[in-house]
Amino acid sequence: MEAQPKGMSDAAPFGVYVHWPFCAAKCPYCDFNSHVRYGGIDEARFLAAYLAELAHFAEAAPGRTVTSVFFGGGTPSLMAPHVTGAILEAIAGHWTLDADAEITLEANPTSVEAENFKGYAAAGVNRLSLGVQALDDASLRSLGRLHTAAEALAALMLARDCFERISFDLIYAREGQSLDAWTGELTRALGFAADHLSLYQLTIEDGTPFAALHEAGRLRVPESEAARAMYLATQELCEAAGLPAYEISNHAIPGSESRHNLVYWRGYDYAGIGAGAHARITQDGTKRALSTLRLPEDWLAQVEVRGHGIVSDEPLRARETAEEYLLMALRLAEGMDLSRFTALRGEPLDETRLDALIAEGLLTRNGARLTATPSGRLVLERLILELAA
Ligand code: SF4
Repeated sequence: MEAQPKGMSDAAPFGVYVHWPFCAAKCPYCDFNSHVRYGGIDEARFLAAYLAELAHFAEAAPGRTVTSVFFGGGTPSLMAPHVTGAILEAIAGHWTLDADAEITLEANPTSVEAENFKGYAAAGVNRLSLGVQALDDASLRSLGRLHTAAEALAALMLARDCFERISFDLIYAREGQSLDAWTGELTRALGFAADHLSLYQLTIEDGTPFAALHEAGRLRVPESEAARAMYLATQELCEAAGLPAYEISNHAIPGSESRHNLVYWRGYDYAGIGAGAHARITQDGTKRALSTLRLPEDWLAQVEVRGHGIVSDEPLRARETAEEYLLMALRLAEGMDLSRFTALRGEPLDETRLDALIAEGLLTRNGARLTATPSGRLVLERLILELAA
């Protein structure tokens, strides 16, 4: 049985993701769909397009109760608060917005963006996710971040006055970072933590400036054994501080998990609007995978003509839906429901393979629940490939 975060209603979870694809600068490690537009953008035109695409999704998924909204990016804290408010109003107009809906906005902690926190709260945002990333200025500079550590902490303090719930992100296994340096930084961060932390290991993504530097030998990140030690220390420190991992990179006071991300990881439906957004909508018993055009201007032009920026809309076969559930749910500490998997795929997982992975200490089984152990979560890709084969 999946325990519900506190305050969550009985309505079947349904999330709305809003992608704001613009950033003030491109961080050298980032491969997200984010774009810098030095000349600015026509925010009113983009808002009209968001509202049009929302109406399109509301027709495709009528009658749902929205349990979470997530403004992600890019940098949604570059969005004017009145734009956020208008989008939230439209969501509440098209669907029932659950009285306890979690409404998150991702923000970068520059002082300029922090000035808008009160405006976002007034617009209805009740949870802020801050991209702090590191607690020292040298690391922030090498990550290409535009804020200082002092600005990040000031933004965090301001956020505490404006939002019921706050998460912040840190990146570890950075260039030259030792295990001691990371555990010291994390211990400090836990002193500032509210109810949620996202702690990501730096990954070198293809096509980024960091990938080019890494290939040229000019960027050295900790070896995999050192990164593994940092991951395990992260689990221990967060657990001891009362924020255990509920997902590979996410830690929360029990009951304060991100409801929106749980929608993805537990395999529920969600709408996704904005350039490069993804959605999963079940219609007549078939789950459909949708995505929108990635380039903001292309997306805008198509929405203005067709009312949506959707570039791909495919029905998922039973096997694909089941495998997506497996892939997502095994990221969670609560694991997956084997009977749900069997119902989705029409056949159970191979018992011999399951037993072998359990014997290897990578999985545990408790009745119908299958969970990856901490060691299993470190080799999740391999686990999933073997289970889905
Ligand atoms: S602010 Fe975030 S989304 Fe934008 S470039 Fe940096 S990491 Fe990517």
